[in-house]
Amino acid sequence: MKKHNFYAGPSILPQYTIDESIAAMKDFAGTGLSILEVSHRSKEFDAVMAETEALFKDLLNVPQEYRVIFVGGGASTQFFTVPYNLLQTRAAYLNTGEWATKAIEEAEIFGEVVVVASSKNKNFTYIPRDFTIPTDVDYFHFTSNNTIYGTEIREDFDSPVTLVSDMSSDILSRPVDVSKYGLIYGGAQKNLGPAGVTFVILKESILGKVERRIPTMVDYRTHIKKNSLFNTPPVAAVYSCLMTLRWLKNLGGVEVMEKINIAKSSLLYETIESSKFFRPTIPNPQDRSRMNVCFVLKDEYKDLEKPFLEFASGRGMVGIKGHRSVGGFRASLYNALPLESVQALVDCMKEFEAAN
Ligand code: PMP
Repeated sequence: MKKHNFYAGPSILPQYTIDESIAAMKDFAGTGLSILEVSHRSKEFDAVMAETEALFKDLLNVPQEYRVIFVGGGASTQFFTVPYNLLQTRAAYLNTGEWATKAIEEAEIFGEVVVVASSKNKNFTYIPRDFTIPTDVDYFHFTSNNTIYGTEIREDFDSPVTLVSDMSSDILSRPVDVSKYGLIYGGAQKNLGPAGVTFVILKESILGKVERRIPTMVDYRTHIKKNSLFNTPPVAAVYSCLMTLRWLKNLGGVEVMEKINIAKSSLLYETIESSKFFRPTIPNPQDRSRMNVCFVLKDEYKDLEKPFLEFASGRGMVGIKGHRSVGGFRASLYNALPLESVQALVDCMKEFEAAN
């Protein structure tokens, strides 16, 4: 049976990425060695790292004065690396979910944190709009896509201070005006590659402004200076990311990708909206994520949750159980998920309704 992979991350990758990664596991760049056993100091891997940065910059139209570095530790490590490097006295954060909350908690270790707005009062089911970014802070941080709750901020804010964003779960799903940001970071394991590597896009001029000493490994300047090869990077994971970037370039880039993502998410949201059984968890269509579509059964049909999960699993749907803090269902529609998989889920929902 064909499987439809709706996991929230690690998640579906392009078949091209998987095939090319398998090929490189056997013979990387004609070296006769596996990508698993090749030195990160080899000229062949040097070329991989250079192309990965260059292609990332090309696809997102990253201005000249920015770098893209690849490090370990996941996005969670960036929660403290960002304030370590940028927070001198005070930083502002927007709280739109669990990941934003975790980022705030880590920043509090380094200085004062001003939470400009929070949607916690309604279990993070909306994006707060009524706030201003203060001018007396070192930076303003927001999470562009809230993977757990299924909300997304697609606005590149005009910020009076350095703009920082966690784009773990919607990077490369749409164009972004990188020039408005000082720093963008995220784990690779949704739209880019396997788990184990984290990307950081940053403008060099925002660094060097804090007085504290920074441990070498979390000082962004270390990785910039050494082209992400200061220590051993996750070699195989970086290679797979490069394959996804090549796939995306070949498809036509982020503009084309965005159109596909709009088509996929609209199809699913429209089905949920017009359903007898289901309803979306995010009331305002403007706040809804194109990457993680969250929905639940209406109160009168609540007892159908388990039967629906079983029904869907019998039709090849994988990973649609909602996160424990939301319940219900979550279908992650990352870049690599084809429209046919969304259609299969929609058909499955309609069949289930007809049968119950
Ligand atoms: N931020 C967001 C928006 C996420 O979705 C996740 C993980 N799903 C994280 C941060 C944490 O990432 P990691 O597991 O790579 O530390």
